[in-house]
Amino acid sequence: MEVNLISDTITKPTKAMLEAMMSAEVGDDVFKQDATVNALENKLTEMFQMEAALFFPSGTMANQTAIKLHTQPSDQLICDKDAHIYNYEGGGVSFNSGVSCKLIDGTRGTFTAAQAASYINPPDFYHSPLTKLICTENTANRGGGTCWDFNELMKLKDVCEQHQLAYHLDGARLWNALVAKNESPEQYGLLFDTISVCLSKGLGCPVGSVLLGSKEHIDKALRIRKVFGGGMRQAGYLAAAGMYALDHHISRLAEDHKKALEIRDALEDRPFVKKVEPVETNIVIFYLQDDIDEVHFMNELMKNNIKIISMGMGKLRMVTHLDYTDPMHEYLLKTLKILKIKKAAI
Ligand SMILES: *Cc1c(COP(=O)(O)O)cnc(C)c1O
Repeated sequence: MEVNLISDTITKPTKAMLEAMMSAEVGDDVFKQDATVNALENKLTEMFQMEAALFFPSGTMANQTAIKLHTQPSDQLICDKDAHIYNYEGGGVSFNSGVSCKLIDGTRGTFTAAQAASYINPPDFYHSPLTKLICTENTANRGGGTCWDFNELMKLKDVCEQHQLAYHLDGARLWNALVAKNESPEQYGLLFDTISVCLSKGLGCPVGSVLLGSKEHIDKALRIRKVFGGGMRQAGYLAAAGMYALDHHISRLAEDHKKALEIRDALEDRPFVKKVEPVETNIVIFYLQDDIDEVHFMNELMKNNIKIISMGMGKLRMVTHLDYTDPMHEYLLKTLKILKIKKAAI
């Protein structure tokens, strides 16, 4: 048995999803003539009660497009120090938009409205970059799949309004937060100027993200996507996977969350583990004792055909997903229970 917990992006389409893809009605989406892409964009527009939506080949491109449309070169955005847009988008914020990030030292990838307010540069003080945008991430990946407190997101909206800042949500794993906290897409649609969501994470699609916003913002996004080279032709084959996933793969995320909690419990019992972060969704982040070598630990797991990932600074991550089955889960829990790890020679 092989268990791969490096990410929820490793899933392959189910047979039913592949069938939906193969029978999709398609056209040239660069001419906006792909019926299935149009249907996917409309479906998400309805779900979030936002005016418009645009299909993207990646979450990175959707986020980068949002940042581009809200800013001018030399502006500044505010985000958490663990934000994906800052850590994992190849420096695109500066490359694509000429924008800098002011980083909040938040809590597990989230921060308070008061913290954000104190990071806004006074607009008439022309020595500092002009603050234009606040970006949040729900769930927060490097935070450990953290769900934001919706009240705090509402307070942040007030801060944005007071200071005329745009408000973007990196919702790559928003689906996990919606299920974990029993929230609705509309409540997010009402709050944010733009939202990106991934179809290729927990929802199990091979490719695809969507950016949502006002008609005006999405008209701009269409031009920016063209500039970034993200216009795709018969993309309906991919959008059909998204349509299928929105109908069949959202509520089942609760199973991924339950498994992640059980993994947390198994890890907490083991002597080689120093600390496990709180688990709220499908991500388990944990730290090894100081006298345990990380590479040795991951190699021992590999010998048992278990793959996990290191996120640097001592953070190890396991992510549960659609292709992580019940038998794999039993096997992992059993292996963790009997695993013996040698201390590093100091
Ligand atoms: C995965 C992810 C993205 C988008 O990544 P792509 O690999 O480009 O689809 C954006 N934000 C977060 C928090 C993510 O985890």
